[in-house]
Amino acid sequence: MGLRTRLTLYYTGVLALTLLVFGLVTYLVMGRMLLLEADRAITAKADEVIRSVTVMHMPMMRFQRIILPNVDAFSSPGTYLQVVDLEGSIVGRSENLGLQDLPFSQDTIQRTTAGSGYYETVEVQGEKLRLYNRPLAVRDQVLGVLQVGRSLRPMTSALAYLRLVLLAGSFLALVLAATLGYQLARAALRPIIHLTRVAAAIGAGPDLARRVPDGGPADEVGQLAATFNSMLERLEAAYRNLEEAYAAERRFVADASHELRTPLTTIRGNVELLQRMGQGDAAILADMADEAERMTRLVNELLTLARADAGRHLRKEPVDLGKMAADVARQAPHLGKSRFTASLAGLNEAVVQGDPDYLKQLLLILLENAFKYTPAEGAVTLEAGESEGYWGLAVKDTGHGISEKDLPHIFERFYRADPARGRGGTGLGLAIAKWIAEEHLGRIEVSSRLGEGSTFTVWLPRGVPPSLEEEVI
Ligand code: ADP
Repeated sequence: MGLRTRLTLYYTGVLALTLLVFGLVTYLVMGRMLLLEADRAITAKADEVIRSVTVMHMPMMRFQRIILPNVDAFSSPGTYLQVVDLEGSIVGRSENLGLQDLPFSQDTIQRTTAGSGYYETVEVQGEKLRLYNRPLAVRDQVLGVLQVGRSLRPMTSALAYLRLVLLAGSFLALVLAATLGYQLARAALRPIIHLTRVAAAIGAGPDLARRVPDGGPADEVGQLAATFNSMLERLEAAYRNLEEAYAAERRFVADASHELRTPLTTIRGNVELLQRMGQGDAAILADMADEAERMTRLVNELLTLARADAGRHLRKEPVDLGKMAADVARQAPHLGKSRFTASLAGLNEAVVQGDPDYLKQLLLILLENAFKYTPAEGAVTLEAGESEGYWGLAVKDTGHGISEKDLPHIFERFYRADPARGRGGTGLGLAIAKWIAEEHLGRIEVSSRLGEGSTFTVWLPRGVPPSLEEEVI
């Protein structure tokens, strides 16, 4: 669930709870107040009746006459009156009662006359009445019970109306709050979503100099944008430093390799001179010549890789792959003692776009390796092939192969599998071969089994023959 939905749910929930508590309290207080108001009205009415009881003194006789008022005069719509004597006979009642009596029992009379009266809620013919039972006393003489009733219908309908208003109001408030809240949350989160998108784009792209827009107000989102930008700033600086260090290292390797070439040439020349003059220990001189040659190779390979790292690209021209492979095949038998065969018939009119010298170097690296890691009684083969859109050149050998453990690493710089050590070599050949293949938009595939031999296949995309190329232009 998104933050937007969660936020909306949270505060709609809180609002629903508040409305529930508020509605309940309002409803209960209102009910209580209306009941008190009814009680006050019937008490006032009862007082009025009591006040109008008159006592007539009869001087002739020893008793006095009590005249009860005509209770009907006190009634009004919804207010009913009834007088019951102590024997339980109704001695007066308001006419609006019709055929109905206000309910009373012996218990009512006892309870009323024992105290100062009480209120109760009764139901008469389905209508709720608030009833006040009050002792009818004159000069401390209790004569009966005065009952004043008042219909609770207005109160019930007022409460029903209030209930309706509260429910409908709450429902409307909730719908409104949820809708508006959702929109608000959306508006509030929009800058964050935008920020996330921009940040993701910067993270995925190569350009660390990009920044998220933070021209908005300095609120939480603004702070987030500023924090993110300062983080990017540091990242960019660190990356720049790293790039600079890397470039300096590349420059150093390139310069060092370049500078080493001249003294190495001199050393090799001098060793050769000594050998020709027959001076010095022949074995030591041969050793020196070998090592100087190995070092020259290493230096040249390092230079090639340093230039590749610096982003150097090869020049491209249409190359007749068949002819180039045939040239290399002619040199191949001199690379080692193993039997060598080449079948290049498949490369008739095979043209690729590339640098002929580097393509030759690529093939030579693979062939040199094949001879180097294959015993004299083994065989090395150079075969041609093709697959969808690619020309293939496969160098096969029946040498000692490459273990599964080493296979994923042989294209890494300076990686040499155990049996290869001590066989002369730099560990850079395949790294260069891979770079050359990739520069030509091709790839090298290798399959090998320990003890059985290896196959390295170079796949190069088919180029347009020079004659056709002109037509295309
Ligand atoms: P190296 O100068 O050691 O030959 P490479 O980069 O040319 O360096 O090759 C890397 C490693 O791959 C070699 O040291 C060797 O262990 C292994 N390798 C390459 N070609 C072959 C092959 N034809 N047969 C067996 N192992 C090979």
